[in-house]
Amino acid sequence: MSLEVDYIVVGAGSAGCVLANRLSENPGNRVLLLEAGGPDTNPWIHVPVGYFKTMHNPKTDWCYVTEPDAGIANRQLQWPRGKVLGGSSSINGLLYVRGQREDYDRWVELGNEGWSYAEVLPYFKKSEDQERGASEYHGVGGPLKVSDLRLRRPIADHFIAGAKDIGIPFNEDCNGAVQEGVGYFQQNAYNGLRWSTAKGFLRPAKNRPNLIVKTRAQATRVLFEGKRAVGVEYRQGEQLHQVRAVAEVILSAGAIGSPQILQCSGIGPSALLDKVGIPVVHQLPGVGKNLQDHLQIRLVFKTRERTLNDEVNNPINKMLIGLQYMLFRTGPLTLAASQVLIFTRSSTEVARPDIQFHMQPLSADKPGDGPHRFSAFTSSVCQLRPYSRGSIEIKSADALQYPAIQPNYLSDERDHAVAIGGIKVARRIAQSPSLAPHILSEFVPGSQFQSDAELLDVARRYSQTIYHPAGTCKMGVDDQAVVDPRLKVHGVERLRVVDCSIMPEIVSGNTNAPTIMIAEKAADMIKQDRATL
Ligand SMILES: Cc1cc2nc3c(=O)[nH]c(=O)nc-3n(C[C@H](O)[C@H](O)[C@H](O)COP(=O)(O)OP(=O)(O)OC[C@H]3O[C@@H](n4cnc5c(N)ncnc54)[C@H](O)[C@@H]3O)c2cc1C
Repeated sequence: MSLEVDYIVVGAGSAGCVLANRLSENPGNRVLLLEAGGPDTNPWIHVPVGYFKTMHNPKTDWCYVTEPDAGIANRQLQWPRGKVLGGSSSINGLLYVRGQREDYDRWVELGNEGWSYAEVLPYFKKSEDQERGASEYHGVGGPLKVSDLRLRRPIADHFIAGAKDIGIPFNEDCNGAVQEGVGYFQQNAYNGLRWSTAKGFLRPAKNRPNLIVKTRAQATRVLFEGKRAVGVEYRQGEQLHQVRAVAEVILSAGAIGSPQILQCSGIGPSALLDKVGIPVVHQLPGVGKNLQDHLQIRLVFKTRERTLNDEVNNPINKMLIGLQYMLFRTGPLTLAASQVLIFTRSSTEVARPDIQFHMQPLSADKPGDGPHRFSAFTSSVCQLRPYSRGSIEIKSADALQYPAIQPNYLSDERDHAVAIGGIKVARRIAQSPSLAPHILSEFVPGSQFQSDAELLDVARRYSQTIYHPAGTCKMGVDDQAVVDPRLKVHGVERLRVVDCSIMPEIVSGNTNAPTIMIAEKAADMIKQDRATL
């Protein structure tokens, strides 16, 4: 073992950077942070709209591709995941959303004591530096900047008015007392620059003498003595290294990376480990199971008025956009992934919002492609709490080989009605008195698709990930649980998982802020448990 520390954190993403900061606050803790990607020096990481350049770029993105999936017409989807300091928070859409209070109360119902909304709210507030000021629901002075958008376009206002026409109330703050409603997103940005966890949490801590950060260092397995985790093996260039953790090893490698590392370390379903020839350290059938994601169905409407498509497709305008950003840090380059949000219900039978809209004043064939050459906007709708479950499974004992990602989208029939209902709500908004006069036609999928069977087929053929895989090392107390409510891996010692893979059920909203909350809470639990080691 070349190095000995107290804590090894694997993965410097949304969760890992928070842990590196909080655990190294105590100068007595020696902390090592291992990150497979490089430093966040690519300038596009810091320009909000730069996700168009960093997604699908192997220098900053793992560039995963899912297996052919019967539920979406056997298509394979690109699944970007950040591979850089800050992880996915360095390449994501910046949208700041916490989910619903019932999500966390439900985690408690599933056996996870300590995770009720009332108990997690202080951690959301602890990390937050809310531009609008402090309140019952919001914090100021934390490391994570949260601010209002710096771009408004009339089509977005018409969209909001259209949603109100069909009875969806305006909501100033979807992270406040009530989530339901239509309003503008808030984002993780400050002064027109992205606010990743690398920026907010790692940068202020990186000069601490008790924190070591190693980049381009890919963990290959956790090292065990019996059932006690004692260190990590990682690869840097062609070299394999081993490091020792006196206190704990913490996996924060994300919903794909964390189950992969566990399986490569002999913790997982024994049939899978036998198949690839990995000796079983502890049989845990749930590792890599319970994969959930938000599947978005993107409707594109051609408009009578100009949208960002027109602005971006005009070379002179493009120069002006660059100039506006350089001089004022405003304009289209500050665009988060979407402008307008809606949380609403796919039918009147549903007790709380089960669908979310992301509205963008631009359109493209798929996220990351160039804008269409005509005026249009996108109205994307996704189911918030899908029943369908997928899996992550290693294909071999080689930790560098990508695992099989099988999302199994729309495999549970209960998800079909929500997909169909979501498209219908999108069309009702489009046909509302406030929005309809601005629309020329429905471009995708097209008004020829009307029956429920046709709309389900649309969902299968036109849907995309909204980049929220979660749940693959689920927290719980049942036989499929991977970690307990203190995020300790069942059946072994001194090993935790802290990232979005621990969500037993995916939250009803975007997943970055909830992951940061999970890491804030985990840091406190790890500090409390130190005395008992
Ligand atoms: C394109 C995109 C857009 C998104 N948009 C939004 C949005 O607008 N709002 C929102 O709330 N959420 C969004 N999300 C989702 C959100 O960013 C993620 O849910 C969140 O960042 C997950 O955090 P994490 O810590 O679990 O994983 P990550 O942030 O992905 O971190 C995992 C880290 O571990 C590293 N790693 C993996 N394996 C290893 C290994 N073996 N050794 C060492 N390091 C390893 C990775 O390189 C990475 O840095 C988006 C995600 C993407 C990809």
